[in-house]
Amino acid sequence: MRLILLGPPGAGKGTQAQRLVAQYGIVQLSTGDMLRAAVKAGTPVGRKAKDIMDAGGLVPDDVVVDIVAQRIEQPDARKGFILDGFPRTVPQAVALDRMLVQHGVALDAAIELQVDEGALIRRIESRIAEMKARGEPLRQDDNPAVLQQRLSAYRKLTEPLIAYYGQQGTLHTVNGMAPVPEVTGQIEKALDAAKPDPAVKAPGKPAGALARAADLGKKSSAGGSALPKRTAGRKAAQPKSRGGNTTPP
Ligand code: ADP
Repeated sequence: MRLILLGPPGAGKGTQAQRLVAQYGIVQLSTGDMLRAAVKAGTPVGRKAKDIMDAGGLVPDDVVVDIVAQRIEQPDARKGFILDGFPRTVPQAVALDRMLVQHGVALDAAIELQVDEGALIRRIESRIAEMKARGEPLRQDDNPAVLQQRLSAYRKLTEPLIAYYGQQGTLHTVNGMAPVPEVTGQIEKALDAAKPDPAVKAPGKPAGALARAADLGKKSSAGGSALPKRTAGRKAAQPKSRGGNTTPP
C-alpha cells in the first residue's frame, strides 16, 4: 500500500498517518520530521532548511526529493508507505511519479483531508496551548504569523496537487473536520474502494500530468456540500468540476 496524505498544516495528516501505520503495517514518511531531524543533527541539509522552515516557507524541491528518494530505498519502505507532507509542489509530485515508475510500483491513493481555515487556526492554537501547558518545547513554526505563511505556501504551491491527483484518478477527499476515528474510517473506506480496479488506478504520465496540473491549478475546486470549504476566501466551484472521488463522511 502506497499513499499520500494531502491537506493544509494542522489538517491532521500526522495523526491519521500514525493510525494508518498501525492498521496497515506500513511506514510513515514525514518530510517535516525528516527535515527537523536534519536540523537537529546540524547536517548540511538541516543547515539549508532551518531558516526556511522557521519562516514557514518551503525547502527547495531538489533537497526534499533527494531525501525522499533515499528514504524509499530503505528495506522498511518496500512493503509500502504513507507520505505525509510530500509531495508539496507539482515538481515534487512529478519526481515522485518518476521514483515510483523506477521501482515498478504505483500509488494506491492520494487522500485529501479537507478542513476549513478558521478551524485550522483554532487547532494549531490549541496544540500550542496544550504543549505549553505540558511544558513541552514548541516547534519554531508553531506561531500565528508563521502559520499564515505556511497556509499561503499551501494554497499557492500545494493545492494544485488536488487537481493533479484528480487527473490521475487516485484522489479521494475526506472530511477532515470529523472526529479523528471517523476520519480514519473514511480513509479506510477510500482505500478499500481504491483497491479493486488497478486499471483505473494506473498512474498518469508525469509529463502530461504536469501540464494538466499547471492548468488545473489555476481553477478553484471544492468538494460536495458535506465537506468543509477547502480554504477561506476561495469561491467553491460546482462539485462536478472535481476530478477525484469524494468519500462521504
Ligand atoms: P505542517 O505541520 O505545516 O504540515 P510539516 O511538519 O509537514 O508541517 O513541515 C514543516 C516544514 O518543513 C514546512 O513548513 C516546510 O518548511 C518543510 N517541509 C516539509 N515537507 C516539505 C516538502 N515536501 N517540501 C518543502 N518543504 C517541506
